[in-house]
Amino acid sequence: MTRLPRRLWFTILGLSATALLIWVFSGALAERLIFRVIERAASTADPAQGLPDGLHVGLCGTGSPMTDPRHSGPCTAVLAGHRLFIVDAGPGSAATLNRMLLNPGRVEAVLLTHFHGDHMGGLGDLALQRWVAASAESPLEVHGPIGVKTVVEGITLAYSTDNDYRIAHHGERIVPSGGRGLSAKEFLMGQGDRTVIIDSPSLKVTAFLVDHGPVKPAVGYRFDYKGRSVVISGDTRASAAVERESKNVDLLIHEGLSPRLVALMESGFARHARTAYAQVMADIRNYHTSPEDAAEIAQRAGVRMLVFNHIVPPLPSRMLDVRFLGDASARFDGPIRVGVDGDWFSLPAGTTSIEVDSRP
Ligand SMILES: [Zn+2]
Ligand SMILES: [Zn+2]
Repeated sequence: MTRLPRRLWFTILGLSATALLIWVFSGALAERLIFRVIERAASTADPAQGLPDGLHVGLCGTGSPMTDPRHSGPCTAVLAGHRLFIVDAGPGSAATLNRMLLNPGRVEAVLLTHFHGDHMGGLGDLALQRWVAASAESPLEVHGPIGVKTVVEGITLAYSTDNDYRIAHHGERIVPSGGRGLSAKEFLMGQGDRTVIIDSPSLKVTAFLVDHGPVKPAVGYRFDYKGRSVVISGDTRASAAVERESKNVDLLIHEGLSPRLVALMESGFARHARTAYAQVMADIRNYHTSPEDAAEIAQRAGVRMLVFNHIVPPLPSRMLDVRFLGDASARFDGPIRVGVDGDWFSLPAGTTSIEVDSRP
């Protein structure tokens, strides 16, 4: 029997593998895969179902203005009992909320920390998805400090033609005209540069001024629900206000910028004569917080767990978490996590436990 040349064997194997793949993906298996994706997307599964009563915090965006396909712009979902709030809606965060099976129709309000684009670039998409998902009859409420009206009016105007098309196409029953767009809930800071914006028997939400100058105002938020608590720093340099508001809090979601890694980026841009980017890398280091400083704040405040979001620079691998954190772990006695999109932190009422679930 004649032996086939080795090259011919490889060709036959390659063609067979290709034929197998075509057969698999054009047949029943492909249909089953598509069906599963559709089922998942269409599911009305509510992450609140099956969860114990308490405070549940989901990371729907842990990125920053720096392009990063793995991390949406800043977004934190806070489920207090059955009330769902979104703190900041960065670019891509509405899609991440969907991947986390959070029904946008359930969003009660968005709370903006400040008006940098990375914190509100996904607001239009979120408003649109909530409107359709809930057939909402009132606009999406957006709480924020002075300046929120301008943002809300601008995004509502930008989407107005889209909204006209949808009403004409799907009808008032599906997309009631009263539910289109956004509505601003502007608040002023009270005594001590803080103000309570939601005060119900079981839930209190407090806004407090942080230090992100020259960006003013910029705020963080504290949620208290049935004895459990979370603080979200928003963008800030190391802030005494964050430390004050985080006193004995269960969970501190803090922004983080690694000065060492950003300095490396600055020199990289400078080497390639990209002077504008190099300058930005130098500038941003003075209005964010290093992981080490955030860890010291958490330690002094007696925080139970510290989680980083707004990760600068983007980390292409979890193996770089250690480089990002630097000495932070030595400065805080509790657990530290570099957040990723899809993380959930559950704080059941009447307990002191914090359960972590990562579903990327
Ligand atoms: Zn900012
Ligand atoms: Zn930011």
